Amino acid sequence: MNMTRRTFIASATAACVAPCLRAEEKPATTTGLDFPLMDFHVHLDKSTIDAVLALPQARGVKFGIVEHAGTKENDYPVVLSNDAELKGYLDMLAGKPVFRGVQAEWIDWTSGFSTQALAKLDYVLTDTMTFPGKDGRRTKLWLKDVESLVDMADKQVFMDRFVDWHVKIISEQPIDILGNTSWLPAPLAADYDAFWTPARIRKVVDAAVKHRVALEISSSYKLPKLPFLKIAKATGVKFSFGSNGRYPKMGLLDYSIATAKELGLKRSDMFVPAPDGEKAVQRWKRG
Ligand SMILES: [Zn+2]
Repeated sequence: MNMTRRTFIASATAACVAPCLRAEEKPATTTGLDFPLMDFHVHLDKSTIDAVLALPQARGVKFGIVEHAGTKENDYPVVLSNDAELKGYLDMLAGKPVFRGVQAEWIDWTSGFSTQALAKLDYVLTDTMTFPGKDGRRTKLWLKDVESLVDMADKQVFMDRFVDWHVKIISEQPIDILGNTSWLPAPLAADYDAFWTPARIRKVVDAAVKHRVALEISSSYKLPKLPFLKIAKATGVKFSFGSNGRYPKMGLLDYSIATAKELGLKRSDMFVPAPDGEKAVQRWKRG
């Protein structure tokens, strides 16, 4: 039988059972982008994988699920802390048409896991939103009383420390994606353009290129802003899209799509999980 492209696609789709990436790809004509949509920052908090996969956006966007991972000192609804808990999480997602990731917490998160167990993940995402407080302990920068917990008396000095914190995490932690890229705590957020100078942006972006860490374009925070992203793109860094979504708000990527179009991002600019042997946790040397 002489198969035309159309009949080939129709038969391939019909033969495709649930975990089939091609069938889930949103047609390029829908977004104007030449790559399929993937939301690598989806939280299952207060929901289940089956409920999330029943959402209409799950037909056009492939999800990467991230559970929090780290020591029990971290305060989240679920924190995976050891190989057994990680295995339970991976088993729960086995056979589902999603990528399986974690959102790493703080800089001691690997301590409970073997490298072998971490290598079963598709990727590791983290962010810089927890920072050393005045007492040296992990402090959430989004807390209302953050200025009483973290020294921000001189905001420029804080910003330099915050950029160094980005570089430290990117260069020392075995991560594939930096989530919530360029987010600033409330006391600085209104002056985003002034605090994110080109020199500071370059420090973060150069570290990301050097250590093969992708930068997330966050649709929940609508960050980074375009001037940041233009400098990032010029260096050849990879990007990922993320909603940081809790049910039912995952897969909503309007800001990520709009900025990708504005920047002219192509398939080759986008993060995809590394093949076995090349994941960040496998390239990393335990200190
Ligand atoms: Zn998150």
